[in-house]
Amino acid sequence: PFELKGKSVYVAGHRGMVGAALVRRLAREDVHLVTVDRREVDLCNQAAVFDWFAKTRPQVIFLAAAKVGGIVANDTLRAEFIYDNIAIAANVIQAAHQNGAEKLMFLGSSCIYPKLAPQPLREDSVLTGPLEPTNEPYAIAKIAGIKMAEAYRSQYGSDFISVMPTNLYGPGDNYHPELSHVVAALIRRFHEAKVAGAKSVIVWGTGTPRREFLYVDDMADACVHLMKTYSSAELVNIGTGEDITIAEFARVVAAIVGYGGEIGFDTSRPDGTPRKLLDVSRLAKLGWRATTSLEDGVRRAYEAYLSHT
Ligand code: GDP
Repeated sequence: PFELKGKSVYVAGHRGMVGAALVRRLAREDVHLVTVDRREVDLCNQAAVFDWFAKTRPQVIFLAAAKVGGIVANDTLRAEFIYDNIAIAANVIQAAHQNGAEKLMFLGSSCIYPKLAPQPLREDSVLTGPLEPTNEPYAIAKIAGIKMAEAYRSQYGSDFISVMPTNLYGPGDNYHPELSHVVAALIRRFHEAKVAGAKSVIVWGTGTPRREFLYVDDMADACVHLMKTYSSAELVNIGTGEDITIAEFARVVAAIVGYGGEIGFDTSRPDGTPRKLLDVSRLAKLGWRATTSLEDGVRRAYEAYLSHT
């Protein structure tokens, strides 16, 4: 196993939902946590990243920084999603290598798998077919990051690993009405409908796509577990192994928020990929499973939303 104790550990993206969860989780480890604000170091800026790394020389890196968003953000900000995410991955991975980092974890995404790959999605499905068009730029950038980690491992012997989280949600999510992911979008929409006494709430798409949702603190716990125990070029999926239709999920959110009105579907909005469920058998063999139920996770996410509005 890899010893985290006493190491300087850099969380890239600590203001994001995942990075913040990693910071909470690492508070329980005996490590020297390092973060840096975007105003000081823009991770898309190669010179800024290289300078900061040469000065700071973190021993362990969780690469949780990314430009992220829901189906509309991915589909409309296509240039920003590919450029920013390739730049962040390229700069941080190369800087980690140049400065002798002992270990790096690259956080990918389940959208790297082909749109029509067999479900549940196995790690070896990567690059076996065409991607879902709505998030292809993001997926290509994430695949570039995975391939960098793999290449640095094979050429330089770097202990760089890659993990693929399913759809994540929780405290610190982005609640933008257009650009957010579905969990945050529905928490906000059902809450606002309840407060306004509205009789109907619109959910995008047909309601038939299936998605798997993982509470972000579970994700952080899995990342720390794998950082300590895993070392291989092979990807590791991180999910719950269970999925739910968007229509069923909307009813879960409505019940937790306490919205009792109707739920309608706007089929002019995109469905995205029909199903996205990860095969988590590799993760299970590595000794980790999710512990937060969807209901508990959405309840906690809703509480965090309420305390920030
Ligand atoms: P995806 O998993 O990359 O498609 O990301 P999203 O979280 O944005 O969307 C997941 C699914 O939820 C898609 O089928 C969306 O059409 C559906 N969905 C339903 N209502 C909403 C909404 O208000 N916002 C978003 N982002 N998705 C929604």
